Amino acid sequence: MSIQEKMSEELQNKKIFEQARSYAYEYIDGIEEMDVFPSESSLEDMNSFDETLPKESISAKEIIEQLHEFGSPATIAQTGGRYFGFVNGGAVPVSLGVKWLSDVWDQCGGLYLTSPINAKLETVCENWLKEIFDLPKETIAGFVSGTSMANLCGLSAARFHLLKNLDWDINENGLNGAPELRIIAHDQVHASVKKTLSMLGYGKNSIEWIPSDNQGKLILEELPKLDDSCLVLLQAGNANTGSFDNFDQVCDLANEVGAWIHIDGAFGLWAAASKSLSHLTKGMEKASSWAVDGHKTLNTPYDSGVILCRHPDALISSLQATGEYIIYSDHRDPLLYTPELSKRSRAIELWATMKYLGKKGIDEMVTAFHLRAKQLEKGLEEIGFQIVNDVVFNQVLVASDNDEKTKQIIEYIQKSGECWLGGSTWQGKAVIRVSVCSWMTTENDIKKTIELFKTAEMTVPNKVGV
Ligand SMILES: *Cc1c(COP(=O)(O)O)cnc(C)c1O
Repeated sequence: MSIQEKMSEELQNKKIFEQARSYAYEYIDGIEEMDVFPSESSLEDMNSFDETLPKESISAKEIIEQLHEFGSPATIAQTGGRYFGFVNGGAVPVSLGVKWLSDVWDQCGGLYLTSPINAKLETVCENWLKEIFDLPKETIAGFVSGTSMANLCGLSAARFHLLKNLDWDINENGLNGAPELRIIAHDQVHASVKKTLSMLGYGKNSIEWIPSDNQGKLILEELPKLDDSCLVLLQAGNANTGSFDNFDQVCDLANEVGAWIHIDGAFGLWAAASKSLSHLTKGMEKASSWAVDGHKTLNTPYDSGVILCRHPDALISSLQATGEYIIYSDHRDPLLYTPELSKRSRAIELWATMKYLGKKGIDEMVTAFHLRAKQLEKGLEEIGFQIVNDVVFNQVLVASDNDEKTKQIIEYIQKSGECWLGGSTWQGKAVIRVSVCSWMTTENDIKKTIELFKTAEMTVPNKVGV
């Protein structure tokens, strides 16, 4: 049988899809019981993938079997209720459902011509996101892999726009000899922002760094006088403390002089969708660009990030070599809004998630993250842990008696398989970083987590101090 005949047969008899489906169901049903982080033996079993490239085509069934047998146990239980690592969200069921269907479509999302449905749903998502975040009507959205990429798009739009206002076309003339831009950031901007700045030609030493307060927020008094060459970087949701910068006042100052404000709101921008938390994002609609993830707080599958920009020409021009607003068709061409050409049709899952939850559902889900975080804060304080941050959103920083003990507790919990959370350092102190951002996390999950902290606290040897 030729390879083509073999593949045609697989497509026709659907067995591999049935097989994948049944494994997926098994995985879903086992998510609450599985180790939240793979056991040592599951990690070792990944050695089964260390094989030489097969000479001949092998059966598809065998491949899917291997992936399930040795791959599924080596996953993180990210879609369960007790994964609190980094700021990774869960996945709303319908978003996984539409992903399956659209995976089979295998659309190239770059052009209207290569996927009309992706282009259509991008437009719908753009409008809905503007509504949820209450952004100016001229705002446009590009759908990218995550906030790192969204930051890159936003900052390159800023660079284009600010230089253009200083009579410099960066697409024509490049960076050499360009007027100097003043990039202003506080020391708590996310690593992805620093990376982006250096990719765009603005190294660490060319940034005007200003100090932040003990929650990682910009200190208004430290903000230098702004002018129209300034790009100011603000944050909605510090990756450690979850804190929010003062958008209202900084945006007013920036808008008076024509400076550009970019807000990195990877997970925090969604606070705007919660009635009880929207005070945190007050004034953010006055910025020039916003980067936000679907795959964190909104619980879409990976990967899903969005750049929102109120200056369409700047965003589009900065991402095109020509510097012109090229109209490829009468419809939306997604590639105009992103650096990529070929890309996943990720707006499909974003659309489905927003439509499924509705405004009320998004509010309920986001608010619940905060309530669970507060529950954890209270429970841990009651058993003698120190909560290092103001729990304004979904992040909780926890410390034990000393750094050594805190690190031992992290290790104990990580090895338990019952929940997973990471370590970090906050103001020189070792902390346990808990991020509540999965719709699956229940009050009971938090209770179990508090119990685990208690057991860890009693079990780990306390080498330093008494
Ligand atoms: C996660 C995160 C990013 C990076 O987003 P990705 O989607 O991982 O690329 C940027 N900024 C903040 C504040 C984040 O939490």
